[in-house]
Amino acid sequence: MIDFTRDGHLHTPFCPHGSNDPLHMYVEQALARGIKTLTFTEHAPFPARFLDPTPEKDSAMSLESLPLYIEAVQKLKRSYPELDLRLGLEIDYLPGCEAETLAFLEPYADVLDETILSQHFLFVDGELLPVDFSAESFDTLVRRVGSFEDVMRRYYTTLEVGLAFPWECLKVNRIGHIDLPIKYQTNYVWDRANVQKQQTSLLQRIAERGFGLDLNTAGLRKPECRQPYAIDVMTEASTLGIPFVLGSDAHIAKDVGSGFETIQKKATFL
Ligand SMILES: [Zn+2]
Ligand SMILES: [Zn+2]
Repeated sequence: MIDFTRDGHLHTPFCPHGSNDPLHMYVEQALARGIKTLTFTEHAPFPARFLDPTPEKDSAMSLESLPLYIEAVQKLKRSYPELDLRLGLEIDYLPGCEAETLAFLEPYADVLDETILSQHFLFVDGELLPVDFSAESFDTLVRRVGSFEDVMRRYYTTLEVGLAFPWECLKVNRIGHIDLPIKYQTNYVWDRANVQKQQTSLLQRIAERGFGLDLNTAGLRKPECRQPYAIDVMTEASTLGIPFVLGSDAHIAKDVGSGFETIQKKATFL
């Protein structure tokens, strides 16, 4: 069962690559769309050792901003007591930096309600390359790894390895956009059947770990994707008992709840 009155993946003005739309605008848009449960999941700061490979180095919030973000969402909760407003983070899964990520975010875990673990970078020949920065940078990744399907397989297997760490300490509840490379899928010829083995293995691991999945509608808004992330794994994940939480991944207020109706209309079985 999907809760269509819940948006579990929202960014904020604290996101350096997002918009300056104030927090209350996100809430007003949620109210207008009948959304009653909202989780703010700003990109958690990176551990000091990780150097953001994107040109502007603006993938995540700075460590200095984190207490300000926490305070702002807590204040917002007090302003809208009628809503179930949750404080979260979108935590990057960075292969090789797991222990640091866990250690430096742990002091904040107590105040967090629920968080998302997302992979945005892939480790290739000793270098972490961005997955979803641009079509050009993604194509570099494809060429370095071999093919689109190779990127998908590596995305899945890396994440599966990463699930060995105790992410519950950081209140991780679900995995963000589990098939993020499909953001650029229309630029390539590929067949999901060829990544099925790795996909099944990852889903089984997620089920064992008790995590859910982020049914992320940002993919619908991307011209080279045209579908929500995770929707193609729903049938299999559901048989494994994995729950789904809708997320708009809004970086601007007007995107809160975006695409939820499209999913609700199409997927009458949900
Ligand atoms: Zn973002
Ligand atoms: Zn993300």
